[in-house]
Amino acid sequence: MSTLSRGRLAPSPTGYLHLGRARTFWIAQQRATQTKGTLILRNEDLDRARCTPEFTSAMIEDLRWFGFHWHEGPDCGGPFAPYNQSERIPIYRAAFEILRNRGLVYPCTCSRKDILQALQAPHAGDDEPIYPGTCRQRVIAQNSRASWRFRVPDGEAISFVDGAQGPQTFVAGKDFGDFVVWRHDDFPSYQLAVVVDDAAMGNTEVVRGADLLLSTARQLLLYRALEIKAPAFFHCDLMTDESGVRLAKRHEALSLRTLRAQGVHPRRLTNEWNST
Ligand SMILES: [Zn+2]
Repeated sequence: MSTLSRGRLAPSPTGYLHLGRARTFWIAQQRATQTKGTLILRNEDLDRARCTPEFTSAMIEDLRWFGFHWHEGPDCGGPFAPYNQSERIPIYRAAFEILRNRGLVYPCTCSRKDILQALQAPHAGDDEPIYPGTCRQRVIAQNSRASWRFRVPDGEAISFVDGAQGPQTFVAGKDFGDFVVWRHDDFPSYQLAVVVDDAAMGNTEVVRGADLLLSTARQLLLYRALEIKAPAFFHCDLMTDESGVRLAKRHEALSLRTLRAQGVHPRRLTNEWNST
């Protein structure tokens, strides 16, 4: 039933969109187009301190300039509205309550410093430090400052076949630890929000950067715990600059905004991508 495929673009308006992100979105759009599927735009604006209305309107403008066309989104509506995550808090809260009622989460009052101090080996890589489970057995009085962590099944191998990167296996408790699903500032975590939304919006394939492969293992545990069907995953290789450094928002020169101001035509870039 390829005609029912649904893909998504899920930018976070914490700055101007950069070229690396645009390339991942381009692949998402191509994959949706190839299957005559629906493409949705979801505004991941849960970081209330960093997401601004200016960045949100710039994001939509830059995406359109680049040649993105979505069928549903915050600007055009659709059957699964709202498409701004900041307007979907009750939906996330309901999912969190399911996890809590099933005893799958527990409150944690550790700071990042506490976690790093409790770890024997310093953390390497760019994923979050593996939580040592300090609060698993701790009894915590009702505390509005606590975050809530999902208890991972220690030792269980989480496997999936990625559409771009092939078979993947991550071991719970070893490659990643108990992760936050509800933040101490009373907002859902990225992990919970993205799972709830992709399921609620009926997305059939999630296209995103390869830096999120490990998060997919976490999210598969949430899909299972919430008894909802997981989509297929396609994790694209990340773009790097000439010196091999991953493109990120700090590469100001490579924001779509800057490229546009320099008179770069988007077709020139996408033609390059199509030929590699
Ligand atoms: Zn803790």
